[in-house]
Amino acid sequence: MRQAAEMPNSSTGDETTIVKSTCRLCFNGCGVLISIKDGHPTSLTGDPDHPLSKGMICPRGHAALELLDHPHRLRHPIKRTGPRGGGKWERVSWDEALDTIVAELTKIGNRLGPQAVVFMRGGSKGTSDDHLTRLANIFGSPNVSTTSSICYSPCALASKHTYGFMAYPDLKHPPRCIIRWGFNPKVTLPPLHREIVKATSAGTKLVVIDPRVSNDRADLQLQPKPGSDGALALAMAHVIIEEGLYDRAFVERWTVGFRRLRAHLQVHTPEIAQAMTWVPAQKIREAARMYATVRPGCILWGNALESGPNNYQTCRAICILRALTGNLGAAGSDVMWSDLGELQRRSPLFTRPELLPPDMAAQRLGAHAKLLPDFAYAPHNLVAKAILDGKPYPIRGAYLQGGNLLCTSADSQLMSKALTKLDFIAATDHFMTPTTALADIVLPASTYLEHNSVEQPWHFPVASIQQQVADPGETRSEGQICNDLARRIGHGEYAFEDMDEFLEFYLHPAGMSFDQFRSQGTIAGPKQLLAHEEHGFPTPSGLVELYSAPLGELGLPPLPEYREFNLTDDQFPLIMTSQKSPQFYHSCGRQLPSLRRSKPEPSMRLHPETAQSLGLNDGTMALLTTATGSIRQCVRLDESLTPGVVMADYGWWFPEQGAAQEFGWRQANLNVLTSAPEPCSSELGSAALRGIPCRIEPMEEQS
Ligand code: SF4
Repeated sequence: MRQAAEMPNSSTGDETTIVKSTCRLCFNGCGVLISIKDGHPTSLTGDPDHPLSKGMICPRGHAALELLDHPHRLRHPIKRTGPRGGGKWERVSWDEALDTIVAELTKIGNRLGPQAVVFMRGGSKGTSDDHLTRLANIFGSPNVSTTSSICYSPCALASKHTYGFMAYPDLKHPPRCIIRWGFNPKVTLPPLHREIVKATSAGTKLVVIDPRVSNDRADLQLQPKPGSDGALALAMAHVIIEEGLYDRAFVERWTVGFRRLRAHLQVHTPEIAQAMTWVPAQKIREAARMYATVRPGCILWGNALESGPNNYQTCRAICILRALTGNLGAAGSDVMWSDLGELQRRSPLFTRPELLPPDMAAQRLGAHAKLLPDFAYAPHNLVAKAILDGKPYPIRGAYLQGGNLLCTSADSQLMSKALTKLDFIAATDHFMTPTTALADIVLPASTYLEHNSVEQPWHFPVASIQQQVADPGETRSEGQICNDLARRIGHGEYAFEDMDEFLEFYLHPAGMSFDQFRSQGTIAGPKQLLAHEEHGFPTPSGLVELYSAPLGELGLPPLPEYREFNLTDDQFPLIMTSQKSPQFYHSCGRQLPSLRRSKPEPSMRLHPETAQSLGLNDGTMALLTTATGSIRQCVRLDESLTPGVVMADYGWWFPEQGAAQEFGWRQANLNVLTSAPEPCSSELGSAALRGIPCRIEPMEEQS
């Protein structure tokens, strides 16, 4: 291992060396300064010079050293010796593990075709995402399965199909109005939260759209029924057009389909939306007026908008709100940023799609389901169903790159049955989890402190240095593991010599070596204000496509629609949504003492009126049931929630219960309640993770 003191982007005190790096414990990629003594990290703090995080670090980031030194971390490859899920393992060498994985997956590929092996991962983890896609292409399978259908692709593809690019808020200028819609950045995007606070302190108007009042700085708070945001967006567009608040000059010069949109929106009145969304019509009007008239404005959209069958249509409607108001491309609105094209993230030179023959690419499970043709992944729920049904063809092997799918994918029971049915599973992770427990071979992944990399978060075009500061022992980065497998598959010419060569390849287009990047620390893509005035919009028409003829040709609605799906009844009278905790990223971190002390158990929030009507008190353990399953969580009263809504914690399992009790994944795991087969979005196959009818019953046990 290179010593920290040799690293250009480090400084040395008497005994302690400080090294700049980037936290990878969630997608935000905050800059960190790591103190190293005697060759091992001893503490870390936020890097005030990082362009995004500016010194901020959250509780998850602070817990990085607990993760690094945790006694239960996987430290060497292991191989199953008893029945699947039986908890019996033996230590094996890396050579034996990798050879076995390649032999077993190749056997399946030879017997049934390479499409019978699926390469799955959880949330985005930087360059290792592309390593996995590259590995699948080298193997010859079209089935890379990710969370993208419920995270990123709904926003990204709706944006691409409406105006050609993913727009990012230009908070620098700053906006005079911000709509914060479907997320709580204080929990999931702390650097963005800080920017919102800064803007509102300087007078920016803030509209918050969230079933729970989560920001007391809001000038206007709308609390929609979970899952109904699409109806709300269409009603806001109705108000903006019918009250003549739209930007006529922008609409006439830069959009196509305005008259059709106007006719389409006639029925989407605020009064009709009120019945579907529970938001008073007057508040819908106020929000629409504020966004259209207090300009420039931007809409910060969150993951709740992507978690259901209306996700793509909802995102299309929000894209259209931006265009109607001219809040697109102008300073202080949502604008185009360079995508750091000079680096190799998602580049075909990296992922090598040409290795997949066109007839094999057409076999992707998403293509069979007639999902959007430019959606390049197979959603987890489609994979689970295909494994169980054997249709449209058999899936018999899986390579799982982290993700803990039993806790993070829709319909955990279905996923468990599906994985159990496979002939062979290889998995990587930091710890044994409910999901790795079902594997045949488990490989120990290194943490971000144990390997060099270039970190690129998906939500802002900034690349940052990630420096190895601890001895990885036998662990390897997930990218390296993919590369080691690629070499063994028999296509050594496509494997990098080692990860140093990979990093040089990755940075080569930027004209710098990894050592030079260490000195620089970050590369930020520039904003492109009013780029359309020079180049038009990068769409087939060169305009913002309010009406999308290409979508119509695919048999999809050319104008955004809202399909009501979340209807309550006597059996399930409440509506469930979910929340993430500041302590945890998806299902990670439940082993880490500081995080668990601060959040020892999962809870569901209820308005006191709702709780009282059910005979529930704060601290009561209760059974939460949907049409798919039941879990138990502790009730917490929350006056800021809309009555009738249940906001349950997501991602829970209990590492302390051990393999014999399946790490407790069936007890409080929200995805026991979600359904994979339906309802799903027709564009992306996304399952409904929020806005689900449910009921709650008291249990005897008290917390
Ligand atoms: S927000 Fe994410 S990247 Fe930033 S410190 Fe927390 S865990 Fe790390």
